[in-house]
Amino acid sequence: SQVIYAMETKKRIPVVWFHFQECTCCSESFIRSSHPIVADIILNKISLDYTETLQAAAGKQAEDALHAVMKNNKGEYLMLVEGSIPTGADGVYCCIGGRTAEDIVKEAAENAKAIVAWGSCASNGCIQSANPNPTSATPVHKIISGKPIINVPGCPPIGEVMAGVIVHLLAFDRIPQLDGLGRPKAFYSRRVHDTCYRRPNYDAGLFVETFDDENAKRGYCLYKMGCRGPVTYNSCGVIKWNNGVSYPIQSGHGCIGCSEANFWDNGPFYQHLASFPGFGIETTADKIGVAVGAATAVGIAAHAITTNLKKRKLIAEEINHSETASVDEKGDK
Ligand code: SF4
Ligand code: SF4
Repeated sequence: SQVIYAMETKKRIPVVWFHFQECTCCSESFIRSSHPIVADIILNKISLDYTETLQAAAGKQAEDALHAVMKNNKGEYLMLVEGSIPTGADGVYCCIGGRTAEDIVKEAAENAKAIVAWGSCASNGCIQSANPNPTSATPVHKIISGKPIINVPGCPPIGEVMAGVIVHLLAFDRIPQLDGLGRPKAFYSRRVHDTCYRRPNYDAGLFVETFDDENAKRGYCLYKMGCRGPVTYNSCGVIKWNNGVSYPIQSGHGCIGCSEANFWDNGPFYQHLASFPGFGIETTADKIGVAVGAATAVGIAAHAITTNLKKRKLIAEEINHSETASVDEKGDK
């Protein structure tokens, strides 16, 4: 009810939305948000006073609008950034209105209430900063300090996640709880692997071996096809995409880890991970693999066997327990 009351009564907050080194996929994703629908946010909840992509104004008219917002709403406007900022060659790789992106970001950040770094570009540099990073593409948090910065990574982030961050800022007038990387915990506290509907197949050691095999048709786990779900924090398995229709894994393709820093440089997308941190019970697979000096494939098989043995033992214990319980019950009668 607090959210509804705030959304119905609060003044529209001024917003400036910048586009630097990026492909506009974050905007594309945002305009597909269905809960809440983006038209409601843009037309009723915020005052989107400057955005190179959606605004009708251009040239001087647009620049004047930007400066008017910043001058008349000091400490009140939200600054949303899409794209990384090139700092190489004095920033000349991205200029708008004759000024570098770096200059613009620094000026706008000065009096912003809070900053949201949309997508992997603004949060961690994304493909522009992939090796050898020819333009020295840099995320917002490495250029600006002393301001609340919310990182919303993903290539792009999920539309409802973007809308959710804005709604939180509007409704509660404070930034959402963030993790150590500045990401809202509500959306980035769990791995794609933790909420994946194919996870039972992973645990049972049932893997797709090639994209056109029988296991692919059966919907087995895509780990061996390079799935980065085990090392990727995002809400794809819960919120999904396109109004909750599906997400990459549901469509038969592994997660490429688009919301994690340096994902472009983290090896070929179709080569599976040998090991990864925070693996819990699954560590068994790799430990066994390393101990016998075998390939990871053997580790996975060993993991599957170990997991299955553990499960069988658990099931046997459960059956024993329920049989004993029913004997006791009969005895009581
Ligand atoms: S490895 Fe990928 S497909 Fe398999 S359970 Fe994890 S997230 Fe799902
Ligand atoms: S499933 Fe993985 S690669 Fe795909 S959008 Fe989600 S985080 Fe990005």
